[in-house]
Amino acid sequence: MPLFKLIHRLQPCLLCGQNPAQQYQLCGLCWQDLPWKKQIVTRHALECQVIFPYVYPLDHILQRFKDQAALHYLPFLTAALSTIEKPRIQAIVPMPLATEKLIQRGFNQSILLAQQLARQWQIPIWQPIARLSRHSQRGLDRLDRLHNLEQQFYALKTQAKYKHVLMLDDVITTGASLGKLKEQLQQLGCTHVQALCLCDAQQC
Ligand SMILES: [Zn+2]
Repeated sequence: MPLFKLIHRLQPCLLCGQNPAQQYQLCGLCWQDLPWKKQIVTRHALECQVIFPYVYPLDHILQRFKDQAALHYLPFLTAALSTIEKPRIQAIVPMPLATEKLIQRGFNQSILLAQQLARQWQIPIWQPIARLSRHSQRGLDRLDRLHNLEQQFYALKTQAKYKHVLMLDDVITTGASLGKLKEQLQQLGCTHVQALCLCDAQQC
């Protein structure tokens, strides 16, 4: 067995820290005990495949991943996403992050996930849409919030390079952002726009 594989095998499980990690950085028991959901949820008119509810340990892991740049969780998160069958798509479109947020965090978590997944599925990442800085949504009613979101997305391209795409985000709540991204992609000429999120935060 190559040395790097041996070292990898001797790493303790990321969750329990006791049993040796087998695959995907977790021990078999912890992997099996994850709160798997793996279903399609509908938010307004948008259908999105989700892997987990946004509960422990996923909430904990994602918070550390995003707020403390705990990037060592990336292989595990990617492995969880890739438990679904590869969709019939030509490219992955990661949810864009507003510049302000990007500067604050230093990275876009959806791009990192998309890069790993794209490598695994051997398809490209495509980023035709950008997002303006997030204005405070506080104090706005729902319609204003939707309008505000609408203002945040803008196209960087004039035509769709790919027609069948998969939008990827880490967490879905109301689905408003994904809905707006989908509209923008359709306006560019995408004909099949699917969505995949690691966690569903709505029913928690
Ligand atoms: Zn474990």
